[in-house]
Amino acid sequence: MMIAPMIYCILPNIPLHIHDKYFKDLVSLIQQFLWGNSPHRLSSKKLQACAKRGGFLLPNFKWYYWMMNVKQLRAWIPTAPVKLIWSQIEMEVNGSISPWRELFDTSHKLTHPIIANAKILWCKLQRAGHWDFVKSPSATLWGNKGIFFYVSELFDCGTKCFLSFGQVVQVYKLKRNQFWKYVQIHSSLSKWQGTPLSCPVASPVEVLLSRSSLGKGITSKIYHLLQDRLADPLLKVKGYWAQDLALDISLVEWDSCLHNVNTMYKEIGSRFIQIKIIHRWHRTPQRLYKWNLGPTDDYWRCDGQNASILHILWGCSELRDWWENIMEVIFSVWKRRLGISLKLSILGITEPRRGHGRKKN
Ligand SMILES: [Zn+2]
Repeated sequence: MMIAPMIYCILPNIPLHIHDKYFKDLVSLIQQFLWGNSPHRLSSKKLQACAKRGGFLLPNFKWYYWMMNVKQLRAWIPTAPVKLIWSQIEMEVNGSISPWRELFDTSHKLTHPIIANAKILWCKLQRAGHWDFVKSPSATLWGNKGIFFYVSELFDCGTKCFLSFGQVVQVYKLKRNQFWKYVQIHSSLSKWQGTPLSCPVASPVEVLLSRSSLGKGITSKIYHLLQDRLADPLLKVKGYWAQDLALDISLVEWDSCLHNVNTMYKEIGSRFIQIKIIHRWHRTPQRLYKWNLGPTDDYWRCDGQNASILHILWGCSELRDWWENIMEVIFSVWKRRLGISLKLSILGITEPRRGHGRKKN
């Protein structure tokens, strides 16, 4: 990829909002380059997925744009060890209030273009990861700038329990006639979290930004966090294979199938062929006939009708000798006779090794 570094160079230097259409156009250009005028064989989600999910590692430029800008926001965190000069300027234009606070405040619109853009990107990133950032410990209380800045300040640092009214009066020097406001806040937070109340947990991105003062590797770490949160792009394909093979394919077996593609084949060409099989990329006579691109659905090797991908790879009578020869070769090398297995022969599913199971999200 010669073009990607050029785009990466520009994106972090634009603190103003780039519309989603720009990135859609970029993906369209790439699809056009890959497939030309023929129908697209893979969706952009499959192209952009990671290898362990059967994807092709095409960079998601929109995500990179979000992350390269969002990672700069760590300078706004009140506890940030390094305060950059520009963060002081933005604090001044924001009425001496840290712009970090504005990211969690839904009560008013921002007028400063850079802070407003940061907030838009922050919201998009959190929504893409399905993180409820409004329930963060940094969330503000109804835009109240006078008494409490963050929700976390209402909880005990050690026990993480909600402060009693006596503690709130003592810590924030309030009058005792403010009790009804205390009850109001307690009630509001209970609706969010249920009871008993405990200090909200920050989203993984927020945790990462507050920990990484130097910012090394933040972009790729957030990228991986987002990828893990997305729905599996090949879940439907797995279902089709299970239906065709009339076998149940567990998630562990499917992981083994995708993992083995990248480890079993040293040669890129063989790896690519296996990926194409897993993605059901081939245009079978059955499919061509369905699309009115072929006169019949007969297979030209055996004249069998309704030739599906399973027939071409496994069921065809012309392949029986070929599969038996493969098994003989394996026997001569390994000195162990394997039973012919559909899962192993077509999808390369082997017994899962320890430590290679799917991580629970
Ligand atoms: Zn056949």
